Amino acid sequence: MTTKVVYFVVDGRDEQTEFCSDDDTDDLKETFRAAAEAGPHDILKLYNKKGNLINISPRLSENAPDSRYKLEVVAAQCTGEHSTMASRLGFDLSVFDERLCALEKKVFVDNGDMPETVVEMKAKVEELKQKLEGVEHLSWLGLFKDISSGTSLKPFWDKQKSLKKSEQHSKRVFQKFMSMSKVQVTDEVREYLHKPTFDNWQWDESEMLILLRQMFIDLGFVTRFNIELPVLHNWLYEVFTNYNLVPFHNFKHCFMVAQMMYGLTWLIDLPSILDDIDILTLITSAICHDLDHPGYNNAYQINARTELALRYNDISPLENHHCSVAFEILEKQHCNIFRNLKRDEFRRVREGMIRCILATDMAKHNEILGNFKTAVQHFDLNNKDHKSVLMMILIKVADISNECRPMEVAEPWLECLLQEFFNQSDLEKLEGLPVAPFMDRDKVTKPSSQIGFIKFVLLPLFEALGILFPKLEPHIITPVRKALDYYTDMQNALEEEKHKKESSNSVGKHNGISNQVNGKIQT
Ligand code: 5GP
Ligand code: MN
Repeated sequence: MTTKVVYFVVDGRDEQTEFCSDDDTDDLKETFRAAAEAGPHDILKLYNKKGNLINISPRLSENAPDSRYKLEVVAAQCTGEHSTMASRLGFDLSVFDERLCALEKKVFVDNGDMPETVVEMKAKVEELKQKLEGVEHLSWLGLFKDISSGTSLKPFWDKQKSLKKSEQHSKRVFQKFMSMSKVQVTDEVREYLHKPTFDNWQWDESEMLILLRQMFIDLGFVTRFNIELPVLHNWLYEVFTNYNLVPFHNFKHCFMVAQMMYGLTWLIDLPSILDDIDILTLITSAICHDLDHPGYNNAYQINARTELALRYNDISPLENHHCSVAFEILEKQHCNIFRNLKRDEFRRVREGMIRCILATDMAKHNEILGNFKTAVQHFDLNNKDHKSVLMMILIKVADISNECRPMEVAEPWLECLLQEFFNQSDLEKLEGLPVAPFMDRDKVTKPSSQIGFIKFVLLPLFEALGILFPKLEPHIITPVRKALDYYTDMQNALEEEKHKKESSNSVGKHNGISNQVNGKIQT
């Protein structure tokens, strides 16, 4: 293996790169692409000193700084029936846009003012971009669609492949889980596990499995329902492997929802108002409620006509799937924690779990909250419907309770959620599907995402539960009000910053560049 250095010139700039003779050709092309600031569809052309076109590969001969290769970038020429409008027009608009931005910056720094021609050119690109975006199912990002069909370029990511945990990783977690299973969880940790202030970020996945097991022991389920510990371990592990590697709806989210449900169980002393089958139903539903979540919501499933949407006729495809996977796991006898339940006990748990998991579809939010508010006016635990809607509300509260957590626990969860939203909206743009504004990276900020959600979803829901259980106020209502203040302050700060930037930009534009050095305004 030999290391080579080649020198080249691109766009008037001198560049050099180092690679090994057995490196991957695609990797080397990527290096050249990066040096040329080229888009994924641009064609790279490399010329030698004689002006002959040469191949970019690790077999490329070394050269000296005074005999540089010349690298040129040519816009992609997509042909064939799949080519999009922008590519048929013969250019990659995103690259053009980026280049124009760079040019704009340079001109502004060098001249201090923007020549009319550049302003005009920018307006034209913007207009064209909008025209292309406006054509239904042909967003200009739809360019990337072609990559998967028949070219040597790989798609950005493989949706299905990257979702699943590797066997190796899962086995390591299982071994650690088993090696800890004989260890006693301390009283201090068991107590901490009751609290909504619990910080999940301190624990790894195998420790979370131990903590879930502890919940089953401390709630008395293991003895009451005669759950054999090896079966409990197998079930928990199977649940763990069936949560995907997605930013938000992963095993940690499952753990947090279960932990909040467990905390609520103690805080409002659920065993004094519900029977043990109901509590078993609630905790098990919380653990299973997002099983095999693919990281794209129901709107995506329906719009993209996925297998799940087809199977469930667009009716809560995800929640139906989570629930179905839950019972598939329980069908395996070595994982069936309910195998010693009486027939009618199992029937009750199954009915209850289906009801609770389906209730987590936010499309049902108003309907369920409305029913609960009506029930609360004359709440009667002997009324089957009242009890059922209370259970639905409890799982809903646990499901969307991140903002009840201390800020250092809650904020990283928001980042995970936004990451998942952005992944979805990016894909929707690529596939030419409708994009919800609350998922769009160009439209959403942390505060804009949370302020409305807290005001219109969280507070009305938590306050309704608070009417029935006033004890909950300091645990779930006060912290959410604080979070609202926190995000309102953040929003104000962002707006102030934006305002400052806008006014300093207009000062720069109107007053020339006398007070500007290296693109930075000096005051
Ligand atoms: P899920 O059952 O999907 O876990 O939760 C229901 C949905 O509520 C989430 O997919 C997400 O759309 C929304 N949600 C949950 N927590 C938050 C949050 O903190 N902020 C916002 N904006 N949405 C949330
Ligand atoms: Mn959830």
